[in-house]
Amino acid sequence: MSDVLIIGTVAFDTIETPFGKVEKALGGSATFASYAASFFSSPAVISVVGNDFPKDYVELLKKKDIDLEGLQVSGKTFHWDGSYEYDMNEAKTNKTELNSLENFKVKVPEKYKNIRNVFLANIDPEMQLETLKQVNRPDFVVLDTMNLWIKIKKKALIEVIKKTNVLLLNDGEARQLFDTVSLVKAANRALELGPKAVIIKKGEHGALLFTKNKHFSAPSYPLENIKDPTGCGDSFGGAFIGYLAKTKDLDEKNIRRAIIHGSVMASYNAEDFSLDRLKKLAMSDIENRYKEFQDIREF
Ligand code: AMP
Repeated sequence: MSDVLIIGTVAFDTIETPFGKVEKALGGSATFASYAASFFSSPAVISVVGNDFPKDYVELLKKKDIDLEGLQVSGKTFHWDGSYEYDMNEAKTNKTELNSLENFKVKVPEKYKNIRNVFLANIDPEMQLETLKQVNRPDFVVLDTMNLWIKIKKKALIEVIKKTNVLLLNDGEARQLFDTVSLVKAANRALELGPKAVIIKKGEHGALLFTKNKHFSAPSYPLENIKDPTGCGDSFGGAFIGYLAKTKDLDEKNIRRAIIHGSVMASYNAEDFSLDRLKKLAMSDIENRYKEFQDIREF
């Protein structure tokens, strides 16, 4: 039985970074999130792909015991074309072909409806809301989004935030959403909407956790070989909720540990394109880098 429900995109990604280019590689927020979560828990995915989606990609996800009953098939697969310059904290969207995502109607399979942990990975906030409507009151909801939805669907996004336990944003999105340069003010405004915790991801500079009375600063990892940051936010979120689902402890101290597991996964993900680095990852790699993170913080 799955313990983490993930809605998001399963995509073809065409990506160019200063270190190379890939065309129509496997990507999408639900792909990275579920793959990262699968190291700790049993994810179940809700998304859509086209008839052009290769069987190999499906097999890759199934091999990690990711439940794909909620993966609909129709038309052509969503295609994102993005690029990065030397500052890899910000992706530039060159082209978005929605394809089958355009008419996607969320349908949560019966057997997913009692899953206790839900990750609303980056997708249209109205689809995130619809997912919450169809499930039976989960214990724990984590939400991720992107600049596009802040710009064009802010009202729906605020509605989802109100139903969320933990909100994930990157620093640029936090400033954009709450119209302030201060990340502390942005986090406080987000907490006023209902979430118990807000995590502001700062790309290669680590992540900040804000709760009502506490603040934690997760270190960044000094990554030597970085090729492609696509999917780092999604891998972070997937590992974060996967770790919490496995440990079943929502205490602030354990949330800190979950953030470091998220950071470990995101740092590995950036070492290669698509899922290429995560595909080779062993649990011992995760544990070793987790220890390195602990050392970085000791003084
Ligand atoms: P990130 O973790 O923020 O780097 O997410 C990258 C992933 O987001 C890529 O694999 C894309 O396929 C996916 N993506 C790009 N645009 C959108 C969009 N408008 N909605 C949902 N997912 C998207």
